[in-house]
Amino acid sequence: MAVKKELESSTNSGEARTVVSTNTYRQQEEAMSTVTATSPAVGSFCIPRSRGRINMPRFTMTVRSSNAVSAGVAPIMTKLKHDCATPLPLLRHVADAMAADMRAGLAVDGGSDLKMILSYVDTLPTGNEKGLFYALDLGGTNFRVLRVQLGGKEERVIATEFDQVSIPQELMFGTSEELFDFIASGLAKFAEKEGGKFHLPPGRKREIGFTFSFPVRQTSIDSGILIKWTKGFAVSGTAGRDVVACLNEAMDRQGLDMRVSALVNDTVGTLAGARYWDDDVMVAVILGTGTNACYVERMNAIPKLQGHVSPSGRTIVNTEWGAFSNGLPLTVFDKDMDAASINPGEQIFEKTISGMYLGEIVRRVLLKMAAEGALFGESVPEKLSTPFVLRTPDLSAMQQDNSDDLNVVGSILYNIAGVESNLSARKIVLEVCDTIVMRGGRLAGAGIVGILQKMEEDSTGLIFGKRTVVAMDGGLYEHYPQYKRYLKDAVKEILGLEKSKNVVIEHTKDGSGIGASLLAASNSKYEHDF
Ligand code: ADP
Ligand code: MG
Repeated sequence: MAVKKELESSTNSGEARTVVSTNTYRQQEEAMSTVTATSPAVGSFCIPRSRGRINMPRFTMTVRSSNAVSAGVAPIMTKLKHDCATPLPLLRHVADAMAADMRAGLAVDGGSDLKMILSYVDTLPTGNEKGLFYALDLGGTNFRVLRVQLGGKEERVIATEFDQVSIPQELMFGTSEELFDFIASGLAKFAEKEGGKFHLPPGRKREIGFTFSFPVRQTSIDSGILIKWTKGFAVSGTAGRDVVACLNEAMDRQGLDMRVSALVNDTVGTLAGARYWDDDVMVAVILGTGTNACYVERMNAIPKLQGHVSPSGRTIVNTEWGAFSNGLPLTVFDKDMDAASINPGEQIFEKTISGMYLGEIVRRVLLKMAAEGALFGESVPEKLSTPFVLRTPDLSAMQQDNSDDLNVVGSILYNIAGVESNLSARKIVLEVCDTIVMRGGRLAGAGIVGILQKMEEDSTGLIFGKRTVVAMDGGLYEHYPQYKRYLKDAVKEILGLEKSKNVVIEHTKDGSGIGASLLAASNSKYEHDF
């Protein structure tokens, strides 16, 4: 545990950019501006990349004396709550459907919405890993580079350093070469600065664990074909190609002599990183821009498996659960957002529960309330019509406002949508946020129970009969306290007291970066005795 603390502080120390204080919105906006300089895009919409510093109004906002909001809002709210409701029977149904879809996806490729992708990660880190390793993490919003000096069982993580670069929006719509050249050049710059406690034995290349958070058909531990881009990426020329080859070619163009030893999904990296510290970790879930989950599966529970033998009898399966769609409570706002997206009909679970979309769903509800219920007065604020103008961090900031007159909510609405709001309107805005966030958190919780349930059905007692850890990561889970609470409460509600007391849902800070470098170590091309 003491060592874990050290890792947390060492990884946090360079992380000023992800520190989010909800005390003042300005602080948060400044903190976020580097992190989410690029918002993923949907459809042909152009999303403002960075609003930079938002001007707080210098005057005290007039809270209109009449706090009434038009009666037209009430029926919209009632219907929204009805359509978003997640009572226990619905959550149970979602959990059961998740478990059933997992089985169908394991039986045969294409057997369900869930791809159930084999990770080729058969051995998890033991703690004995030693040496200098790199990780490269391409998420939805940023890419991160990290180096870690591993010291084996005794010294564990001797040192880590990392850097984070936001992905320019034009690269999300550019060519594969442009994107990978950008990544390779970022990696080259980072690698140049190596020194201090980091040492590479002579005659070795630097090895990389490449975390790639998009659906990939893995062909070996160090190769995999991109199935399709998600989370608003529409880069041409990558789908159908080996993403490791794409990176290698870009590194060649940069004259950078590094090699990818492990290609891992971010969930797999998170599971490996968390397992390094805790043997009871069985599942990893990401809730960030998008969402996904992976878990430890027995080889003999994977009927579609052909040829691949794991010495441990186990392997990690990447569920790609963002594509799940069974039995979800959806509203007209979800359906409209989906129809306008670049991947209509796809990634429905992701569109209902993940960070890229929650703000946009709320915006759509508020727009209707403004247009049909005069929520913000007679006219509809123009900026509110801009897709993705309201972001999930904005919802979170508003929901942390404890002031009597909800002046943070007022400021955010003013800055984002150019509206002056009265207290009743602000309260309604918060109610809408809470409705969408509660649905998202509770459904995510039901998904987690689905995975645990599937594992328990296969070997009774393995999951609920002992301590089982679900490793969590991602900006949404980390920075949205209400979301996290709804998720955890739903897990308890579905499982009941007895079963849920063995289930630990734990945040693993930057687990996927460390995890990917650990997997680079355990899959090193060089001889090693760990
Ligand atoms: P990625 O998913 O791109 O790898 P992260 O895990 O850092 O990156 O998640 C970033 C996402 O997390 C953002 O797109 C946003 O949706 C969400 N997020 C970040 N900060 C907050 C916040 N303060 N409140 C709520 N959601 C947040
Ligand atoms: Mg990520």
